Amino acid sequence: MKITYFSNSQKFLYDFQHIIRAFYPGAEVKFGHGGDIHLEAYFEEMRVFLKLQTRDKTIQKDFILVYDEHESKRIFGRNLYDLLRQETKKDLPWGILTGIRPTKIVYPLLEQGLKEEEIYKFLQEGYYISDKKSKLLLRVARNEINILNKLEPSSACLYIGIPICPTKCLYCSFSCHEMTRQIKSLLGMYTDSIICELEKTYQKIDENKNRIVAIYFGGGSPAVLGIENIKKIFTNLFDNLEKNCIQEITFEAGRPDTISEDLLEYLAELNRYLNIRLCINPQTSNDNTLKIIGRNHTFEDIKKAFALTQEYGFNNINSDVILGLPGENENDYKKTIDDVLKLSPASITVHTLSIKRASLLRFKWNEYKFMDEETVNNLLDWTQYVLEEHGYIPYYMYRQKNMIGNFENVGYCKRGFEGLYNVMIMQEKHNIYACGAKAVSKFVYEGDRIERVFNPADIKLYISRILNVDI
Ligand code: SF4
Repeated sequence: MKITYFSNSQKFLYDFQHIIRAFYPGAEVKFGHGGDIHLEAYFEEMRVFLKLQTRDKTIQKDFILVYDEHESKRIFGRNLYDLLRQETKKDLPWGILTGIRPTKIVYPLLEQGLKEEEIYKFLQEGYYISDKKSKLLLRVARNEINILNKLEPSSACLYIGIPICPTKCLYCSFSCHEMTRQIKSLLGMYTDSIICELEKTYQKIDENKNRIVAIYFGGGSPAVLGIENIKKIFTNLFDNLEKNCIQEITFEAGRPDTISEDLLEYLAELNRYLNIRLCINPQTSNDNTLKIIGRNHTFEDIKKAFALTQEYGFNNINSDVILGLPGENENDYKKTIDDVLKLSPASITVHTLSIKRASLLRFKWNEYKFMDEETVNNLLDWTQYVLEEHGYIPYYMYRQKNMIGNFENVGYCKRGFEGLYNVMIMQEKHNIYACGAKAVSKFVYEGDRIERVFNPADIKLYISRILNVDI
């Protein structure tokens, strides 16, 4: 299906497109004219005319905006939603909410001291968010606030990015490099570049009087650097940061084929006096799906990795799973949750598949069957119920663009195992220093102004910029 939209103004253009996409997942949505369905917005000062045209009918609406920009955006979104609901007879669980950090809208309401019922009313009437999602949102926001309230304003995070993986997952849109012979030959220089960037970063941390409380080794699969390079980075961190301020170090060991005993032995040593949080991510327990999505491991490998981490005494392990993977049905997903629960990780992060433009899946979309939105929505409710039954609480959430059914990703954990870095990065109240290719630092200024600093995504370019060499 082809859908076009047109507006005589740049106003709310992002929301215009996003809400249409949410109603018609998988459709081609373009700015312009023509197609099976055409939507148009005409702004005349404070008045807006909205029109939806199909081959055989036209429906229209007009309404008045207000001087408050945020409220005007919601008025526009609600009117567009009403038009699309009339056409599709559908409701969206997240209503007109387009942001990727939904708890951020609840924060000020909690700070103003609004009662629970008043917050629900605002979410449901202002954003058309469903009753169930409003309740989940408020719960998660309260958990996030509890975590953030324990931090000093000077607290900050440090991200170290190693965007390299053994193979590329079908749904990956991240500028992640596959481990080729050439990339392998650059690992030593890449480590030196990270250390060089870290040295400059420590100066900034000092200038800003920040204290690093959470460190995240992400990527990619940082373990591909090899134990000697990893030790070099840790030694440099401990020589320069105040160890007793560090409350958490997360190490993404997501792909079990990258985990070695040397690495676990080294991290286990650190885990004796630091809180090391390991990520071992099955995504699914279905071996056939693992093959389809291009991960060259089985669920048996995940079980072995878990057994090994237990031998080394790790108790803070996170497992990611994805709901809606290509070819999977309700039973496959439920089996994954059951299998992961048997491993008893400290936290389980449940993602809903997102089909990103830059992913291989975007081009192979038609080759697979996917669950429909209603099934995904029911399974999200089922997941929350089952995980809570097993003692997990929802403690952070975010949304991505192009997720099946426009749903959410939720981090669940056993109490006391909340991932500090995850909450800090979502709430954008603290500085985030980031080193490595594709890393993005975020600096938060008064008035909640945020400045982002981007590193080059390409590893060769990153190395040559940092070390000032030609590669
Ligand atoms: S593990 Fe993550 S970063 Fe690596 S290829 Fe898969 S989705 Fe991309």
